Amino acid sequence: MADARMNRQVLLVSRPQSEASVDNFRLVETPLPPLEDGQVRVRNHFLSLDPYMRGRMNDTKSYAPPQPLDEVMIGGTAGEVIESRNPAFKAGDRVVGMFGWQEYGTSDGSGLRVVDTTHVPLSAYLGAAGMPGVTAWYGLNGIIEPKAGETVVVSAASGAVGSVVGQLAKAAGCRAVGIAGGEEKCRYVVETLGFDACVDYKAGRLYDDLKAAVPDGVDGYFENVGGEVLDAVFARMNAFGRIAVCGMISGYDGKPLPMKAPALILSQRLKVQGFIVSEHMDVWPRALKELGEGIASGKLKYRESIAQGIENAPQAFLGLLRGKNFGKQLVKLV
Ligand code: NDP
Repeated sequence: MADARMNRQVLLVSRPQSEASVDNFRLVETPLPPLEDGQVRVRNHFLSLDPYMRGRMNDTKSYAPPQPLDEVMIGGTAGEVIESRNPAFKAGDRVVGMFGWQEYGTSDGSGLRVVDTTHVPLSAYLGAAGMPGVTAWYGLNGIIEPKAGETVVVSAASGAVGSVVGQLAKAAGCRAVGIAGGEEKCRYVVETLGFDACVDYKAGRLYDDLKAAVPDGVDGYFENVGGEVLDAVFARMNAFGRIAVCGMISGYDGKPLPMKAPALILSQRLKVQGFIVSEHMDVWPRALKELGEGIASGKLKYRESIAQGIENAPQAFLGLLRGKNFGKQLVKLV
């Protein structure tokens, strides 16, 4: 374990030319300064690793500014207050924040949220009961607007967002169909998460297997992946179908996306809408309440891939970009 007075941090030190690599990151140790009035210090227990971080590594125009070089990598964190000179927090509080890839976070408390871990584990606040869960909730309810009896398809179905999308669609009375990479992920999606079917896009029969899994076509598609998966689902869209464009991870890590699908938007009169979850803060309280209740009652299931130690954050992040995670990717620090 690190010395209590030292903070281990992972910095972004260079930008990838194509695929990201561990050389883009550097682990450093810095002394923790004494706490000032109004400040709170948190021992991070979990880092959230998320696909959006790959976009921040590039210096390109986007909805968010790039991650500055030689600074701590951005990211969601969940941990415990160990020292507080801020009346809103006390030692022992479990908190969720955005301290990034480091063992300790120090701040004035803004953006830090105390969470109740009686019924919902701390780590879940970075997954199904946190940003990925709200993403699923918003894209499904706010854009796809599922009706009972409809078919909803979601890609990256075993992941943090996708797993919640399918379970919420099922609860809304829909046929929920996942697309995931590999037999094991697909088995989990059907047997544990309760989807009606799951298509293994790595089996080499994507188009035919999808067609068989959606006999009545697709009314709602929650897009997480892009590329050939998006093309295949587009081809099965029903008239007046809705597509929530949430992410296109297959194009994030230096591989341009082939785009054949857009012509079908017109021919099938599709509603295709992109969104960014942090621009819909109004829905967060309701979504978090419903998701937390689902987890506490055991109805909403989720899975985590947990890497150990801050030094393994870069490798785990690259694994996430290559589909090596199985469920929400976290790094455990304590
Ligand atoms: P996941 O837990 O789903 O992990 C990423 C998964 O993507 C991998 O496990 C892999 O699963 C899948 N994947 C599919 N195709 C590829 C490919 N070509 N290369 C690599 N991985 C691939 O991540 P999240 O649930 O956190 O995120 C899912 C999507 O949602 C991402 O696109 C992300 O950017 C987006 N997102 C968007 C937000 C928004 O506000 N718009 C907010 C949060 C997330 P498999 O093995 O099944 O292929």
